[in-house]
Amino acid sequence: MKILIAASEMVPFAKTGGLADVVGSLPKALAKLGHDVRVVIPHYKQITEGRYLTDLPVPMDGHLETAIIRNASIKAGEQEIPVYLVDNYKFFYRDHMYCYVDEGERFNFFCKSVLAMLPYLGFQPDVIHCNDWHTALIPLFLKVRFMDEPFYRGIATVFTIHNLQYQGRFNKSILKNLGLEDKYFTPEELEFYGEVNFMKAGLLYADLINTVSAKYAMEIQTRELGEGLDGLLRKRALDLYGIINGIDYDEYNPATDRRLYENYDRNTLERKRYNKYGLQKELNLVVGDVPVVGLISRLVGQKGLDLVAEVIEHILQMGAQFVLLGTGDDYFEKLFADVKVKHPARVSINLGFDSTLAQKIYAGADIFLMPSRFEPCGLGQLISLAYGTIPVVRATGGLSDTITDFTAEPARGNGFTFTDYTPEALLDAITRAIRLYYDDPAAWAQLMRRGMSMDFSWNTSAVKYLNLYEKAVQKRKQRINRAV
Ligand code: ADP
Repeated sequence: MKILIAASEMVPFAKTGGLADVVGSLPKALAKLGHDVRVVIPHYKQITEGRYLTDLPVPMDGHLETAIIRNASIKAGEQEIPVYLVDNYKFFYRDHMYCYVDEGERFNFFCKSVLAMLPYLGFQPDVIHCNDWHTALIPLFLKVRFMDEPFYRGIATVFTIHNLQYQGRFNKSILKNLGLEDKYFTPEELEFYGEVNFMKAGLLYADLINTVSAKYAMEIQTRELGEGLDGLLRKRALDLYGIINGIDYDEYNPATDRRLYENYDRNTLERKRYNKYGLQKELNLVVGDVPVVGLISRLVGQKGLDLVAEVIEHILQMGAQFVLLGTGDDYFEKLFADVKVKHPARVSINLGFDSTLAQKIYAGADIFLMPSRFEPCGLGQLISLAYGTIPVVRATGGLSDTITDFTAEPARGNGFTFTDYTPEALLDAITRAIRLYYDDPAAWAQLMRRGMSMDFSWNTSAVKYLNLYEKAVQKRKQRINRAV
């Protein structure tokens, strides 16, 4: 198959969260299965790679903007996967990747550029795999603008929801920028509580939709986690799938990861402790064999940080240390900075984005916390399993699909889970973990080994994506036949 994956971020070029990991690793698995897969993302200022390929005019609200298409690649074994980078100095030559007032214009431009570049590249994909709201206009433009053009007609689309909370909502005036008439501003189309909702375009116009775990696929059809779009998702329930994300074990392997203080694997587990000592030393914590609780996350409401703040004193009373790495809302940054002031020798708060420190924490911690309010898939728990670090998670979305509670199911548990979104429930799960760590080192080591031998690679999920792409292509063919 010829597959184009469009997204707003991708490892190793630009990353703020799990989406970048997925877009950096899924194509490798697809290429290894023998498919022609290519990726397109914006060329942000921070990206230094990218050889000039061509530039082309993109119509924007009555005038033309120039899309500069650059070319880079990533390796999948011996193969090279082309990565196209859409550049425009006005829209993407900025200090940050997101959160600008003209976000709607920026990603409208990106979506239009993606479609415009294909004939220039001579690349006619069978399917365009769009990810989150930044790319959600692509299925819409394909259907309402390009349906009659032979080059584009047969291109199917799959839209993946990585996080339903971020929808790309803008003032009605953005319609003109998109080149759409007022008839698209109705509740059946893009209107959403008085605004234009980009994600809706993906949900309405993509041939098939999926999200990143089976559980989240169910949850988003409920009022509680549907973010106001549950009605629309229920309407498309037959076209909505759940495919769990994988991780790239070439990148996340404690035996070879160069960012660690000391490499180790299942058979040399005793060496993992040097990562704890190294981490404690680097972060100015007391060095020693106490349980270290790690947390690496965007600091936003979704991640259950308010619960962590409520139980942190209890965690420390149990003799544990707490290491946080994250960036996000000022509120949480300040909250945790205050905890540090109170316990300088046992708490380390690292505010920023640092992939090297992240790996040192995955390896150096004993317990990894993810008490999310909701979690579409979650990668942190999968990475921590690979590093023999035991996840303590709230049983929601992908966390629920990947982590089994050890207390309830000792024969197959791989972490500790809790259900109620309360500090008491979280504390109960952490306490069970810390007790096992202290009281039964043999059982703890067995739990670590079990996590490290689990396979959350892309092998299975990439095949599921291929099936989904094929279904989308069939669906598109049927629609064209019906239209003839
Ligand atoms: P989300 O996509 O909601 O941010 P995930 O758990 O799916 O959450 O993925 C988060 C990814 O981003 C993981 O690879 C995690 O290690 C990484 N990450 C999050 N915050 C940071 C940070 N401050 N520094 C380095 N890596 C981070």
